Amino acid sequence: MTFSVAGVNERLRSLPSVDEVLARPAVRALAEQVGRAATKAAVRAAIAEARARLQDGLGEAAISDERVLALGAAEAAPHLRRVINATGVVLHTNLGRAQLHPEAVERVVQIASGYSNLEIDLQTGRRGHRSAHVEPLLCELFGAEAAHVVNNCAGATLLALSAVSKAAIVSRGELVEIGGGFRVPEILAQSGCRLIEVGTTNRTRLSDYAAALDLEKADILRVHRSNFALVGFTEMPAVAELSHLAHGRNVRFVHDLGSGALDPGLGEWTAAHSLRDGADLVLISGDKLLGGPQAGILLGRKELVEKCRRHPLSRALRADRMLLAALEATLRLYRDGRGGEIPAIAAIGSPAEEQRQKATKLALKLAENAITAAVVETEGQVGGGSLPMRKLPGAGVALPGEPAALLAALREGDPAVIALVREGRAVLDVRCVNDLSQLAAAVVQAAARAVSLEGAKLQDEGKEE
Ligand SMILES: *Cc1c(COP(=O)(O)O)cnc(C)c1O
Repeated sequence: MTFSVAGVNERLRSLPSVDEVLARPAVRALAEQVGRAATKAAVRAAIAEARARLQDGLGEAAISDERVLALGAAEAAPHLRRVINATGVVLHTNLGRAQLHPEAVERVVQIASGYSNLEIDLQTGRRGHRSAHVEPLLCELFGAEAAHVVNNCAGATLLALSAVSKAAIVSRGELVEIGGGFRVPEILAQSGCRLIEVGTTNRTRLSDYAAALDLEKADILRVHRSNFALVGFTEMPAVAELSHLAHGRNVRFVHDLGSGALDPGLGEWTAAHSLRDGADLVLISGDKLLGGPQAGILLGRKELVEKCRRHPLSRALRADRMLLAALEATLRLYRDGRGGEIPAIAAIGSPAEEQRQKATKLALKLAENAITAAVVETEGQVGGGSLPMRKLPGAGVALPGEPAALLAALREGDPAVIALVREGRAVLDVRCVNDLSQLAAAVVQAAARAVSLEGAKLQDEGKEE
């Protein structure tokens, strides 16, 4: 690129000052709306953008009101905000996993906005422990002797291994990465629990565990292969066989299960199954198939759960009151036979026909705004590293127009929409969408923006089809 340094310096000097831009009528109006601090930040950002452009030898020193207003709106909006999940992935980790049931939300608001009996026993006035609010429910629902709750399941696994096991025997088929940097060998190393590998990637027999136990005393750890499936020439002993072997050798069987399903309708192995089949300690997540808040739940024998509770890591990983409020409310729904109302459970269970009707409604709403969207079949997923082989036959609408520009415009909208690209088209899967009118309005806005940004003729195409 060739440009004159003198010319660039000249133009840099002609950039307006922050105060000059702040004095413009449109910018003053913005300050009335979003406050002076946000407006000032937006003006600084607009000037910095213009300076960067000039230094690259591009563009003009002029700063448009429009750009300042756009930056001002972005400054004023919360950084963490609601998005519409149009991906069809129910427990989408990047989008916050499980949506809470309204009753759980209500409990969070109540507890977060005031003081609570978080660590006080209201009967005796003495100090209590915070897990006590959910322990009886957890024990009842999962058939556990004792329970403890921490911040997430990765934390629960780290805590359990640190507090309970000096060494653990793990099948080579279970030395997995769960995602987000949670790798079983690394968690073991971090916990100070020595890893003893047995078997092979695809086949590990009970005799492999027994042979390792002949050489040294160690607990048996099973890690649920949450996010992938091993098919074909495979073999692994049942939970009952592993517990039986562990107990015969006077060691413990620990099951890192992750998914945390409780609803038998999901057809998933549950923590209740593991406990029934003799597991001494089971670790599950709160925001996967349980459909509650992010949480790590330890279930099992009293003596082991107590060891975990008293370990210093338990304090470092402790659950906060909002988590406990949401978890208690979610567990009560299960206890009262209302588990099917939990948003994640309802979304996973919704049949294809119901989804098709929902997609048709969305297409009609879009048609009212001159956007011709085709109703299409989709394949949703459970997500969150749960039930990787389970497809959720669903429906959505395919939007006319260039998909990349449209997806970007949808993401940048308010509310932002996260959509998919399928066969060269932007597709909105309706499974995890609560409010179709809100989604339709966001699509109309995004389509208009995508047109103005890319010069694409989205709406025109929509009218012609
Ligand atoms: C998901 C998962 C974890 C981690 O749970 P988080 O709640 O995400 O921390 C641990 N172990 C297994 C087997 C899992 O599936």
